[in-house]
Amino acid sequence: MSEQMRTREYAMSEQAVTTVGRVAGRGASVQKRHTRRANGIVTTRLLDIYERLFAHYGDRRWWPADTPEEVIIGAILVQNVAWKNVETAIARLREKGWLSLRALRETPIEEVEECIVSTLYYRMKARKLQAFAAMVEAEFAGDAGLMLALPADELRARLLAVWGIGPETADDIILYAANQPSFVIDTYTRRIFSRLGLMEEKATYDELRAFFMRHLTADVALYNQYHALIDALGHSLCLKKRPRCRECPLCAMCPSAE
Ligand code: SF4
Repeated sequence: MSEQMRTREYAMSEQAVTTVGRVAGRGASVQKRHTRRANGIVTTRLLDIYERLFAHYGDRRWWPADTPEEVIIGAILVQNVAWKNVETAIARLREKGWLSLRALRETPIEEVEECIVSTLYYRMKARKLQAFAAMVEAEFAGDAGLMLALPADELRARLLAVWGIGPETADDIILYAANQPSFVIDTYTRRIFSRLGLMEEKATYDELRAFFMRHLTADVALYNQYHALIDALGHSLCLKKRPRCRECPLCAMCPSAE
């Protein structure tokens, strides 16, 4: 952890933390379970944010996919593009019966490209899909389940060694396809939590991920929902330009609120 981040965390521990009422539903049970294990004010603050987001947006039911392989395919396709573009591509792959790693590996690359053209950088992404499928075939006899059953740290290292798989994609796969705890960081996470004064905007991906994983219990359901809630806020209200702070459920606790 950088010195700047340590300073920031220390400063936060000096702040008063608002206790929020519990909301009904899954968010409340997560709060209850984790508050017991909370190891400090940073944890309480993170859970406070979680509860406010959950009360506002509800259960996000993320990741929208029928199989782990569909999650993997979606995680590669969503790189640098909005999810709605991915939905179009997934629908076309489903129509063709190509929504599996084996089918993608066996299909001529031009035809894969044609299906995923809505995701931008589609030529590169078609290559990434086929490279990933080839790795699963070569190292796991085509069985993605075997790969996903690796312990999280080992799985992460294997994923990061595949061409075209960066940390965010790897963590998406670990969390949403393998159902193992690995906190996912994206542009929205960086923007929102730096505006909240909890982290430096220039912190590295690994520093940001370590921050969440140090202060939150390694719980798949919590990580799953939290990342999805962050994305909901970043997509709808905490916009890059002109954030809609008056509508934001975090407005009362945000030092950057306009
Ligand atoms: S109050 Fe504004 S700046 Fe702060 S998290 Fe909400 S939308 Fe973003």
